[in-house]
Amino acid sequence: MSPFAIIALALILARAVTELWLSRLNQCHVRTHRNEVPPVFRGVMDESTYRRSIDYTLVKNRFGNIVNVFDAAMLVAVLFSGLLPWAFGKFSASFGISILAMAGFLFVTGIALSIPGLPFAWYAQFKIEERFGFNTTTTKTWIADRLKGLLIAALLGYPLLVLVLKLIEWTGASWWLWAAAVVVAFQLLVLLVAPAIIMPLFNKFTPLAEGAFRERLFALARRTGFPTRSIEVMDGSKRSRHSNAFFTGFGRFRKIVLFDTLIAQLTEPEVESVLAHEIGHYKKRHIIKMLSVSIAEVFVAFAAIAWLARQQWFYRAFGFEHQTGFAAADIVPAMLLFALLAETLGFWFSPLIHIWSRRFEYEADAFARVAMGEKQSLIQALRKLSEKNLSNLTPHPLYSGFYYSHPTLLEREHALQGGK
Ligand SMILES: [Zn+2]
Repeated sequence: MSPFAIIALALILARAVTELWLSRLNQCHVRTHRNEVPPVFRGVMDESTYRRSIDYTLVKNRFGNIVNVFDAAMLVAVLFSGLLPWAFGKFSASFGISILAMAGFLFVTGIALSIPGLPFAWYAQFKIEERFGFNTTTTKTWIADRLKGLLIAALLGYPLLVLVLKLIEWTGASWWLWAAAVVVAFQLLVLLVAPAIIMPLFNKFTPLAEGAFRERLFALARRTGFPTRSIEVMDGSKRSRHSNAFFTGFGRFRKIVLFDTLIAQLTEPEVESVLAHEIGHYKKRHIIKMLSVSIAEVFVAFAAIAWLARQQWFYRAFGFEHQTGFAAADIVPAMLLFALLAETLGFWFSPLIHIWSRRFEYEADAFARVAMGEKQSLIQALRKLSEKNLSNLTPHPLYSGFYYSHPTLLEREHALQGGK
């Protein structure tokens, strides 16, 4: 094994071990609180719901461990068994190294590598979610979702791959800048049209019925300077009893979406406060900031791929022949390896992103409190959502600090009460 292969292997193992350790820490922490609802949560959950939330947390943690170990083992096997160079050789021998063929190789490999994860996704939905009463997905919907996803990938992803590979041949050494710019433009376009074209493939959206409730929400939108043309209800209950609210699209395409499950679980002032929180994300420019980071990530990723594609040691570490040049076939192995390894490195940065995203949540909560002129509705809404979703009320601080994109219920209530 080359020195770099050993580093890559060490990073994969370090990640798996860290995840197992954090999970263990969390499980122990949760178990110590198992027998009694902690005093601060007495009004939030009754004894039996609390027990179920503990069980749900533990079951999900244990299952997560299995998935993590499996993923790490598969990544090691795929990277170090010589499977990829072998498949690349076979594929080029059969289909050539034209741009269409090379894009096909990346596409097919991506699909093939996603297949082993399917049984886990199935188990999570039909065993775990089912057991805790969340699953409402039928097998038919589940299979249809996967097929639709595949179709969208083929219609959007494959042509994009072809274009990116074309850019390598057209623009030479600066290809990565062009490629990153095209990918970003493409992502923005998808964000723009997704509410109109992609999301209706998966869910039904109906405008919120006329009446006092709708008026109340529109009044909030006007009051907070968030002009919206429509508030729609999404049939989230088609798949799960978990609830949510969000808004999508930009400019004229913007719309507020409430899950039907959210409306069923919360009172009108509570829904209004959740909406105020979502508007807070928009008004505080969180969406733009998050988007800027992901755009920067695309540029960094392509710069990294372009650089790695020039390194002989990188190709050799995983058994590929190294060619210096700007043909698609020279760069494709670097793209594939980068895609496989990116998460291994990105994992260590995820806590930073989460710290940032939790700050946004506090800001959006604070915005909602001002917009509502009171904090009680939002606190009530957060409590109910924790209860209905069987959220873990007592995660280990290190675990939530590492993984949570949202502060815990207690942290959010604290901030809302204290005026943080
Ligand atoms: Zn939020």
